[in-house]
Amino acid sequence: MRYISTRGTAPELNFEEAMLSGLARDGGLYLPKCVPTFNKKTILELRGRSYEEIAYTVMEPFVRDAFSKEEFQEIINKSYSSFRHKARAPIKRLSEKQFLLELFHGPTLAFKDFAMQLIGQLFRVSLAKSDRRITIIGATSGDTGSAAIEAFKGLKEVDVFIFFPKGRVSEVQRRQMSTPSENNVHAISIDGDFDDCQKIVKDLFSDLAFRDKVNLSGVNSINWARIMAQIVYYFSSFLAIDSDFKDVSYTVPTGNFGDIFAGYMAKEMGLPISKLYIATNQNDILHNALINGHYIRTEVKPSISPSMDIQVSSNFERAVYYALNKDTIKVCKFFEDFNNNGNCEIQKSAYTNLLKYYSSGSVSETQTAKTIMKTRKKFKLDVCPHTAIGLKVAEDNIGKETMITLATAHPGKFSAAFKNATGEQPESLNYLLGLFDKNERITELKLDLEIIKKIILERI
Ligand SMILES: *Cc1c(COP(=O)(O)O)cnc(C)c1O
Repeated sequence: MRYISTRGTAPELNFEEAMLSGLARDGGLYLPKCVPTFNKKTILELRGRSYEEIAYTVMEPFVRDAFSKEEFQEIINKSYSSFRHKARAPIKRLSEKQFLLELFHGPTLAFKDFAMQLIGQLFRVSLAKSDRRITIIGATSGDTGSAAIEAFKGLKEVDVFIFFPKGRVSEVQRRQMSTPSENNVHAISIDGDFDDCQKIVKDLFSDLAFRDKVNLSGVNSINWARIMAQIVYYFSSFLAIDSDFKDVSYTVPTGNFGDIFAGYMAKEMGLPISKLYIATNQNDILHNALINGHYIRTEVKPSISPSMDIQVSSNFERAVYYALNKDTIKVCKFFEDFNNNGNCEIQKSAYTNLLKYYSSGSVSETQTAKTIMKTRKKFKLDVCPHTAIGLKVAEDNIGKETMITLATAHPGKFSAAFKNATGEQPESLNYLLGLFDKNERITELKLDLEIIKKIILERI
């Protein structure tokens, strides 16, 4: 499989190169040159198979010619062996038409583990072959950072630098990043918000000399390999509910648009997905874009669902690329305008295309808290604030088809917000307790690119 950039001028790459480089050199994002498709029969033949077997079938066309069959099977098996649930992504029925897909049974209790554990194994195998050392950087609103650190800690070919907004991640998220003692792990708190952290990553990648000097690599959801890993649970969840190949819809709590874009890919690959519902918190730039066709940046407002406190969703570029019928010149123009003015109108035909696939809802802080409470009472189920946002949007949109909502994190990861909403502690895990006994190691930095570069050069 070959990979091309949404902006059209970066070189075409194979899977391994696209994965190791992260962001394309022209500022765009990599996508497969053609999307593999499965017919109904092939999809239904996967029924009853293990998560790992489904993962192999769904992802194999994307990595073909990078890994042998045995290599890739072993990579997948290792990736999910640390998950606490045999099904990896179990699905719960809430009511006749409503399901919850639990994606928080991985080592750091959020869905990011599905992609990050796989990426860790893919990098390990690739780098061992090439004898290369790389520097991984990532911006995080909390969960990506902990998942990346968990996946790469101790790997000798890699240094991992994670930038997170100071004071804006939950205590568990912070401790997951700051307590690993391996010295290839660097947790860096930045005086700013998530968009600032994301901008640091983009700016470091745009400095091509620095990029080459330290062999920069990124594992944010801009990395195609992460999207690829997330496609799998759309297939596994569809297969787990008995639907006779009838249409289903998904509601996806959304920040950087990675998880929901994986749903778009699953649909393109042949899953009968009717609509993908974008569920946002009060940072609702995507919801507004879908309502009125204007993509307008505003300030990030901190919320009780911090992993979604994002205004500029990097993966939205991938959706826009397809909505603009792969016209890379128009994609460049759109994002240049947006970068310069923070405001652009989505071209009519592209807007119509987006509405064919996506719909949306935005949930206030009060409604989020109410939904946590209501879910506890009605379904005897504890959910994290992000999941609650998904459930609220799903409830507002439930119609005649089956609706699957993605449960993106374990409630214990956001216990303060949960306690505020319900007056009680969420269901806890022993694992969480261990985090509070360990020493933390954090480097605090100002939003200054030169200082950040200096620190990276000193540490690697
Ligand atoms: C990252 C994250 C999201 C948002 O996912 P995107 O792929 O960035 O849209 C939602 N919920 C939780 C718990 C997360 O960690």
